[in-house]
Amino acid sequence: MKFTELGLHERLLEGIEAMGYETATPVQQQVIAPILAGKDIIASAQTGTGKTAAFLLPLIHKMLTAPHSEHHINALIIVPTRELAIQIAETMEGLGYFTDVSCMPVYGGGDGSSFITEKKALSTGVDMVVCTPGRMIAHINMGYVKLSEVNYLVLDEADRMLDMGFHDDIMKIITKLPARRQNLLFSATMPPKMRELARKLLHQPVEINIAVSKPPEQIVQEAFIVYEPQKNPLVKFLLQQKDYTRVIIFCSKKQNVKLLASELKRSGFSVEEIHSDLPQDKREQVLLDYRNKKLKILVATDILSRGIDIEDIELVLNFDVPNDGEDYIHRIGRTARAESTGTAYTLVSEAEQRKFAAIEQLLGKAVTKSQVPEQFGAVPAYAPQQRRSSSNNGRGKPQWKRRN
Ligand code: AMP
Repeated sequence: MKFTELGLHERLLEGIEAMGYETATPVQQQVIAPILAGKDIIASAQTGTGKTAAFLLPLIHKMLTAPHSEHHINALIIVPTRELAIQIAETMEGLGYFTDVSCMPVYGGGDGSSFITEKKALSTGVDMVVCTPGRMIAHINMGYVKLSEVNYLVLDEADRMLDMGFHDDIMKIITKLPARRQNLLFSATMPPKMRELARKLLHQPVEINIAVSKPPEQIVQEAFIVYEPQKNPLVKFLLQQKDYTRVIIFCSKKQNVKLLASELKRSGFSVEEIHSDLPQDKREQVLLDYRNKKLKILVATDILSRGIDIEDIELVLNFDVPNDGEDYIHRIGRTARAESTGTAYTLVSEAEQRKFAAIEQLLGKAVTKSQVPEQFGAVPAYAPQQRRSSSNNGRGKPQWKRRN
């Protein structure tokens, strides 16, 4: 589903485009419309599914279209960790780049100056606050936090917050909020204590369940941490390591499919491309040749990640990190079908590290990082928490914008 079909504000669509999102993920498809319609939500969705944008987009849209006080806090997002608070504020920075919606992350562990900046925003008003419970309580206890006109409350990774013992802090914050507000609860799991919290907080919620499949155990998954220009030569090297008869290489963009396929052809590989620009009859011919083993390597966009049923694919090579975890699982699920083993390699550039870490979180385990052979030169370290997300790199919008 395209974002244009969801009725979002034009300036948001620009932000979405700048972030490089093309289609809405399943959780976004299911959650955005009911939030826009003012419903309470309880959604079981893990990190990696695109859940952050699923609640940020409709909230920003509402802020652009519904009147609210500029001198109060309008949306309060409570999260378990400072890392998540920073990540959400960064996504907000990207999606809201073409809007004047302001956002302030509020979390512990900073220095005195961050407390003062937070205090200023919390006391004079800011559209959106993303906070950890303990830090917010510290501010609330000082008496200046403008919570009386909060229209939207989001609890993100609510199960983790309960596991970390934040129940009482959360309830304490919520007692300061007006009773009439929209509540959105996101949680990876739904244990009984979560149902209990939902019963207390939510009003006739819409329930959304994004079931995430797990890839088959017998797939050997490996990642290569590289700089973007190292990807092309590394693909060729990896293809030469074994006499593969069936390989699929996935790229997120058609353009990359075309470039890589022609590069591989020039180097003498038995390869064809598959993407939506290719006429249907040509696509079918390519697939037939691949099925009949006349052709060894397919370079494809995600149109091929779901639903093709070809056995014995030995290697799935992700030229880039797919946009959401479900796509990753579908891509690598092309190999190791029907009890056979298979290998899935993923090439991860610096800008993609954060996205890959989100996928690892969805998988519930780290993917083995394989050594890149020395001949390729130095490679970056895998440090996803220290990387900015790929799409709003260096644009440097202040996180809390002052109004004139
Ligand atoms: P989240 O589950 O919110 O942590 O998101 C996981 C990753 O998916 C983040 O890197 C997001 O920037 C990215 N993402 C979210 N929605 C989309 C989308 N519709 N298309 C592409 N990437 C997305």
